[in-house]
Amino acid sequence: METLKPKFLLSENLNRLARYLRMMGYDAVVYKSISFSNKIRLVNKDRRIYLTRSPKESKSNQKFNRFLIKSVKIDEQLKEIKKYITFPNDFLFSRCIECNKLLYQIDKGKISNLVPEYILQNHNDFLVCRKCGKIYWKGTHYQDMMKKLSEL
Ligand SMILES: [Zn+2]
Repeated sequence: METLKPKFLLSENLNRLARYLRMMGYDAVVYKSISFSNKIRLVNKDRRIYLTRSPKESKSNQKFNRFLIKSVKIDEQLKEIKKYITFPNDFLFSRCIECNKLLYQIDKGKISNLVPEYILQNHNDFLVCRKCGKIYWKGTHYQDMMKKLSEL
């Protein structure tokens, strides 16, 4: 399934959108301080779609998939890329919001000293990022984001 989902490379000023895309399970990378031509090379190599807020970049006559984001607001930005994204629940929380790595199920017993007691008592499903160690569960933050997404 992984290969059927669009993958993205975003310009640095779209970091927040990248986090939302990861939350929905999309592969969304942001590279800091690399040149435009290097971005294009990576977009083509990894078959990504380049999301940018720069009209100049989007009009480039080089060959690569790109999409111009017009709004500065996250809600509007998500609407703008609606044609690329579907919103099935099982996509959610499959990727680390911070580092774009896939998350893995982790046994509740293994993380009992890493999350607050009341979280442990109220949740059974936990996911972990093997790169940064961040632990995810479907708490209030998750519900807020779900709400925002379902409103779109
Ligand atoms: Zn991570």
